[in-house]
Amino acid sequence: MFKVMAVNAGSSSMKFKLYEMPEEKVLTGGNVERIGHDDAIFSILAKDGTKHKKILPVKDHSVAVQLIIQGMKDEGIIQDLKEIKGIGHRIVQGGPYFSDSALFNKDTEDKIESLIPLAPLHNGPHLIGFRAFKKALPDVGQIAVFDTSFHQTMAPEDYLFPIKREYYEKYKCRRYGAHGTSHRYLAQKAIHEYLHDKKDTRIITLHIGSGASLCAIRDGKCVLTSMGLTPLGGIMMGTRTGDMDPSVFNYLVTSTGRTAESLFQEFNKESGLQAVSEVSNDTRDIEAAALKGDEKAKLAIKMWALRLSQFIASYACRLGHVDLIVWSAGIGENSPYFRKAVIDECTEFMGLKLDAKKNEETYGGKEEIISSKDSSIPMVVIPTDEELMIARDTVRLLKLK
Ligand code: AMP
Repeated sequence: MFKVMAVNAGSSSMKFKLYEMPEEKVLTGGNVERIGHDDAIFSILAKDGTKHKKILPVKDHSVAVQLIIQGMKDEGIIQDLKEIKGIGHRIVQGGPYFSDSALFNKDTEDKIESLIPLAPLHNGPHLIGFRAFKKALPDVGQIAVFDTSFHQTMAPEDYLFPIKREYYEKYKCRRYGAHGTSHRYLAQKAIHEYLHDKKDTRIITLHIGSGASLCAIRDGKCVLTSMGLTPLGGIMMGTRTGDMDPSVFNYLVTSTGRTAESLFQEFNKESGLQAVSEVSNDTRDIEAAALKGDEKAKLAIKMWALRLSQFIASYACRLGHVDLIVWSAGIGENSPYFRKAVIDECTEFMGLKLDAKKNEETYGGKEEIISSKDSSIPMVVIPTDEELMIARDTVRLLKLK
């Protein structure tokens, strides 16, 4: 038995989970939010399952790491730092370099650094997190687990954009996708537990949260995913546009006088369900408004459901045959109403059908088959667990026993 940490460092936050491995038991978890502020928030799960919270100044990520370590000691979760045998970090962008998780060494660090222009809000803070842990625990092996690596099996016809080749060659401009750790977790679990590791499995995984992406997976390998160069691509999301005619960008820059950067930020942070519904980016609020008859909320749901259903149909066409559709993440796991809105669009042609009762009863972390017996393709809700995948990769790559 030994302990392994999964860390997700953002620009002003540091989320963590501590596992006992190989049992995969969660010992604690928590977050340091508002790093850089005098009123940062540190929360940690105590042994009795309650959440302990402190408000205090946290100057930088190194202080956050000290706080996490001390917090785990104070809660009696670890006695000695030597109990921690490995640390895995979530890294948003691995570019074309990483088709698997990697040992955090100088080469890995340099490559992550070189990819900062592709993920300016994430890769920089991830490195700060890594360096802060290295300072605190210099002898502990660290692993980088990339959101993009699972999608590196895509073929050029899927990852290239129809633009001049020099943009790919000089600037690495191509589809990378995201949520790969989640899609990989879902695929492994689905293929093992629901398809009994049979040969030539073909599945579609739907990671549908505030950010959302689909993945067409054949034999456990990604064939195609919906996010593009950045997470802005693909289906309509909580606050992101998803795919649009690229000329919208140029037209709005010229006609509004706004800068490309400010529109880009708006397409990421103030568009999607939020912009169309004018209610919220949260499906719970939009559902409540639609049920009260709000026309914009109803339109937002219809637009969202149509786009998602079109992606599902095109991915099914691409795979030729689908054994299983997996729903996951905030909306996929919790919203029977939004799941039904999508499946209603996939019934006439594709023959997808929900079991109404199972769909209604599946939320809040439940794993359940939600399709009816006569659905053309079975559908299951599987709660995702990216941190567990990070912990497993850490054990695997550090060869911990
Ligand atoms: P995620 O990004 O995976 O954390 O998903 C967050 C989104 O999931 C929220 O913005 C909501 O739209 C949706 N969500 C979370 N919980 C629920 C719930 N209980 N019912 C409906 N939607 C939910």
